[in-house]
Amino acid sequence: MAEPSTADYIFKIVLTGDSGVGKSNLLSRFTRNEFSLESRSTIGVEFSTKEVQVDGKTIKVQIWDTAGQERFMAITKAYYRNALGALVVFDILKAPTFQNLDQWYNEVRANAGIDCCIILVGNKLDQRHIRAVLSEDAKNYADARNIQYIETSALDATNVEQAFRTLIADIYRHWA
Ligand code: GDP
Ligand code: MG
Repeated sequence: MAEPSTADYIFKIVLTGDSGVGKSNLLSRFTRNEFSLESRSTIGVEFSTKEVQVDGKTIKVQIWDTAGQERFMAITKAYYRNALGALVVFDILKAPTFQNLDQWYNEVRANAGIDCCIILVGNKLDQRHIRAVLSEDAKNYADARNIQYIETSALDATNVEQAFRTLIADIYRHWA
């Protein structure tokens, strides 16, 4: 049976970005403090929830996760519907995942609506000695679209909480 919720607000957030960039691990790190080394492809759509406090209010965030590829337009629509925020994720070790950002960014903008808050996330910071994408280039990409950029590691937990909290605070300011 579902726990009774005392949340003041419920925010739907979606994760997007190429497959393998670390979306599912960012989600499990944030909601359960778990990380898994083996890549398990996300089947269909999954979501996890977590309650966070902002300004003394309890916000229940429902975070949706899906596989980056093999998706159908039909689930794309439902996936983004009513999303108030999106984490658009790339892998700082893999340039193509950065080059594909427009596809994800445009998909969010087209399906979640113009008011959806977006944060750009460069993941796998723990491996920065072999990075392929410069922080500066990612920062410029984000600045040009008036969104924030943050670098994370789902593996060692660096900035994962901050990435989600920055987005949640953004949504709160925008909608609540
Ligand atoms: P998704 O396809 O975007 O959901 O990516 P996954 O979360 O399944 O991660 C893909 C692979 O990258 C897995 O082998 C993870 O263990 C690995 N991975 C995810 N996040 C990190 C990270 O921050 N650092 C490192 N080194 N590996 C990561
Ligand atoms: Mg996944």
